[in-house]
Amino acid sequence: MIEMNHRLRRLYNEPNREDIIYFLETSQKDELNALYSFADQIRKQYVGDAVHLRAIIEFSNYCRCGCLYCGINRANTRVQRYRISREEIVSIAADAYKSGYRTVVLQSGEDPTYSIDDYIYIIRKIKKLGDIAITLACGEKEEEEYFYFYSAGADRYLLKHETSDPILYDRLNPGMSLENRIKCLKTLKRIGYQTGSGIMIGLPGQTIESIADDILFFLEMDIDMIGCGPFIPHPDTPLKDSPVGSEELTYRVLAINRIVTRNTLLPATTALSTINEHEGRKLALMRGANVVMPNVTPLKYRQLYEIYPNKKRIEVSSTDMIRDLETQFHQIGRYISHSPGDRYQEDPYIANGHC
Ligand code: SF4
Repeated sequence: MIEMNHRLRRLYNEPNREDIIYFLETSQKDELNALYSFADQIRKQYVGDAVHLRAIIEFSNYCRCGCLYCGINRANTRVQRYRISREEIVSIAADAYKSGYRTVVLQSGEDPTYSIDDYIYIIRKIKKLGDIAITLACGEKEEEEYFYFYSAGADRYLLKHETSDPILYDRLNPGMSLENRIKCLKTLKRIGYQTGSGIMIGLPGQTIESIADDILFFLEMDIDMIGCGPFIPHPDTPLKDSPVGSEELTYRVLAINRIVTRNTLLPATTALSTINEHEGRKLALMRGANVVMPNVTPLKYRQLYEIYPNKKRIEVSSTDMIRDLETQFHQIGRYISHSPGDRYQEDPYIANGHC
């Protein structure tokens, strides 16, 4: 126990590869419980009890890329493709805002059909709705495009790197390069975006050591939002016969991310709720997470945006969804934040009425 406490303290004070690997691998139940409980304490201390909601709008499932793990990759001819018009995107965002969401995430495959002017139009219209943040998740772009979107009002950009192992990255993402991915992340940070990245846990060929490197990568890059979900094989991809990523390993990564990065935005990912429908979100929130990302894409499109199969679908109105989440959060002593939920905000200690 003394050795474990020493390791946990060292993980917090001087994050290092050896301790990260240790907690990713340990088979001791009491060590795991201590890790989760420490992550929950750090979460409370640094980001408080608020849960930030992000309304996801999946506006196009066209993609020019061929990532082997992704159900909407360009080679999958079984997908019915769609694009949502810019007016409809704004209207979906307006409905989300009316329901109480203060962040929308505009997500798509890499679809060059939308012009810079389309993005600027959409971003400006949404920003006019009120106090609302916009996260873009539309893949790799030129620096100039990132700059125009930011100037128009986009606040955040989500670009997962999936693995920092360059050989694995090349194998899983033909025609793409980890180098360019990292270059894009650096550009986004330099421009001023709150920048998100993330990985999949359990990718075929991934090692525990490479996951430890991913965690150190988030830290070194000072990534603001870190999304980590289990790999779920899609039947229409070359990885269809690979096993599902470990739920428990995903919680360990989440907890370690919280301990080493302290105040980042960590979602309880939809993929976790997909493999553990009843407990996935709750357990993630109790092990370091402080963000939930409900999908508000109209159902007729949502069912066609299948990066992985059986994605958890909530088929209720946005308002009912928020009410339901409020009840779930309340049961574990948490509440919905009514701000856009930036990484750096008011001191949670003061915000919770402690002074
Ligand atoms: S993971 Fe993203 S970039 Fe890769 S094929 Fe899927 S949508 Fe396209």
